[in-house]
Amino acid sequence: MPLYARVVTDDPTNKELDYLVPAPWESKVHVGSRVKVPLRSRNSFATVVELVAESTAPGIKAVTGLVSEEPVLDPKMLQLARWMADYYSCPLDAAVRCTLPQVIRSGGFKRERWLSVTLPPDQNILEQIKVRAPRQAEVLEVALQFTGPIRWADLVEAAATSDRTIKHLVNQGWLTLQMLNAERDPSQGEEYVSTAPLRLNPGQLSILTMLIEAIDQGKTKPTLLHGITGSGKTEIYLQAIQHCLDLGRGALVLVPEISLTPQTVERFKSRFARELIAVLHSHLSAGERHDEWHRLRRGDARVAIGARSAVFAPVKDLALIVVDEEHENSYKQEETPRYHARDLAVVRGHIEGCAVLLGSATPSLESYHNARNGKYELARLTARVDDRQLPLIRVIDLRQEFAKSKHPSILSRRLTQAIEDRLQKREQSILFLNRRGFASSLLCSKCGYVCECANCSIPLTFHLAENRLKCHLCGYQAVAPKKCPGCGDPGIRYSGYGTEKVIELVEKLFPTAHAARMDADSMSRKDAYRTTLGAFRSGKIDILIGTQMIAKGLDFPNVTLVGIINADIGLHIPDFRAGERTFQLLTQVAGRAGRGETPGEVFVQTATPFSPSIQFARHHDFDGFWDQEREFRERCDYPPFNHLVLIQIKSEHQRLAEFTAETLHRRFSEKIDSSVTLHPVVPAQIERVKGFYRFQILLRTRAILRLSRTIREVMDSLSFPDEVQVSVDVDPYHLL
Ligand code: ADP
Ligand code: ZN
Repeated sequence: MPLYARVVTDDPTNKELDYLVPAPWESKVHVGSRVKVPLRSRNSFATVVELVAESTAPGIKAVTGLVSEEPVLDPKMLQLARWMADYYSCPLDAAVRCTLPQVIRSGGFKRERWLSVTLPPDQNILEQIKVRAPRQAEVLEVALQFTGPIRWADLVEAAATSDRTIKHLVNQGWLTLQMLNAERDPSQGEEYVSTAPLRLNPGQLSILTMLIEAIDQGKTKPTLLHGITGSGKTEIYLQAIQHCLDLGRGALVLVPEISLTPQTVERFKSRFARELIAVLHSHLSAGERHDEWHRLRRGDARVAIGARSAVFAPVKDLALIVVDEEHENSYKQEETPRYHARDLAVVRGHIEGCAVLLGSATPSLESYHNARNGKYELARLTARVDDRQLPLIRVIDLRQEFAKSKHPSILSRRLTQAIEDRLQKREQSILFLNRRGFASSLLCSKCGYVCECANCSIPLTFHLAENRLKCHLCGYQAVAPKKCPGCGDPGIRYSGYGTEKVIELVEKLFPTAHAARMDADSMSRKDAYRTTLGAFRSGKIDILIGTQMIAKGLDFPNVTLVGIINADIGLHIPDFRAGERTFQLLTQVAGRAGRGETPGEVFVQTATPFSPSIQFARHHDFDGFWDQEREFRERCDYPPFNHLVLIQIKSEHQRLAEFTAETLHRRFSEKIDSSVTLHPVVPAQIERVKGFYRFQILLRTRAILRLSRTIREVMDSLSFPDEVQVSVDVDPYHLL
């Protein structure tokens, strides 16, 4: 009887394809195996998702290669991929592709030549070599200075020698050649002071007890841990993971962004034995990624820590998944498949039969809703560790500042005084502004001309250091004009401000203080983030100015002041989550203040002091915020009471994009039932990005799986012109 492998290929095809398994391989091909198959006129890598005895596909070809006998894709991971394809309305091949790193899929990566000294020669022998082959002796002496293996290329450079000389040494057995990964140990050279578990307070202890029970009994109902900033959530994660390790089992920890949460990651590295941990981040080389993946797969490493895509980490015998800062937007993937890692974590917990813990000081309304209606357990920590006080939040009404002065300063008088006060007390301050650059736009005061991006329908931001205008969407740059490109008037002005302007002002106001800026522009160098944070921690910086980069997970005991320069950015945009985001941001940024002995103080500058997000954040009143936000969401039929699906249609040709959108819309209107609300085709809020015109269709439903299926059917039944791209976003985060 023939055997057919149903596969999804690495080359996007949007479908599952059948291939005949040649008889000799029948016992070697399994579900999850990686194979090579002919596709169109070439070969493609593919993953086996099913084995079937019959196939009705016409003109079946045979599998041409076996990449790995041992199944690479675990059956549980395949189940997760299937769920992802169903829920996010994406093809299975796209879902499977994203569960396996590229280097694992291709089954190989480039290794490099490394050398080590086989046996250090004694002085006599070295002298003999010196006489016979002085060049070789020199190289050997250089190699002896390295304690471990050295890269071939590095030795050539360090000893100013040639490949030939090294080859001689290898041939004679003085040096041993090995093929190793480009970089061996991703955290080589890092040192951590190891920490012991802290004695938990009663609140922490009862949550840990509950978690241990969930782990032991394999309770998959997720727990939402709502604990204010500094309440000791991370310590609970650490001890719950220790319990998993004591059982000889594994754990997975998701953090928003590895590079932005160095302190959190360090705490994990210092608590557990280094070899038990695999940190998965975007800077790993292919070789490192390969090694870390296999370390987890074999069970050598038992704890995986990583950002979004680590939700697919092959942790063996998984007992617990922790999602830290579960409300963070970065868990949402903004390309197909547009999954949300927190939601996938919950599904994976179900599939694996393991405990799931979602933690946040400002839970997303979706998770909080689930906790309120009993889908999740709710656990709370309402006090900071050691009863440290929450910072006092003062709201500064910018309208009054405007009334007092025609040209009010970016820093209000009270905030300026507060900074001055901290400088005198040798305490540190953080100033937060979620906009980089110097001026947010260049505006002609005479004709009203605004410098816009050539590719996007948004104004360009002025960057002082480079004297350039930059587009924050597509990266377009232009030299800043000296006079108005519209009317030629030299009176063109900068309006609005960004972090670059704030630091200029701070340096002028406090010439003796040390200020530093931290945003995507100033942090483009690889280690800049670490260095700046290090300098801040050691007190070399008095005032740290930054964008949302500094809002997350940082814990500096000497920071007693946080100034939020403009809380209105982000609040008054046409997005139903604007209020929620502002509340979260204010609460998180405020949480950076007063983590030490001295209580913190926060100043929030705003022109809309009475907006609920600001007032509730000010009073640390999550439930108050929830009550009023829930009412708004329910009344307007927004999530968490409903699911949204955003279909985006884009093309460089405006008419074509619009026409395709209309066609899709018509097809949807024929297919959907009364449980779905279909909104008309509209141009996106930002109509043009990177030269592409964008149109969108919004759908709402309570029955999301049913709608996802309908959307897939419609998408598969149409063939779109090459110049048009259509994307489906289930539970979208950005409606702009
Ligand atoms: P969160 O994750 O909720 O912001 P953390 O776990 O970072 O809180 O705790 C805040 C600070 O309190 C950290 O410096 C941590 O080491 C300390 N801490 C946490 N739990 C305890 C405890 N039980 N006893 C003493 N200190 C603690
Ligand atoms: Zn642009």
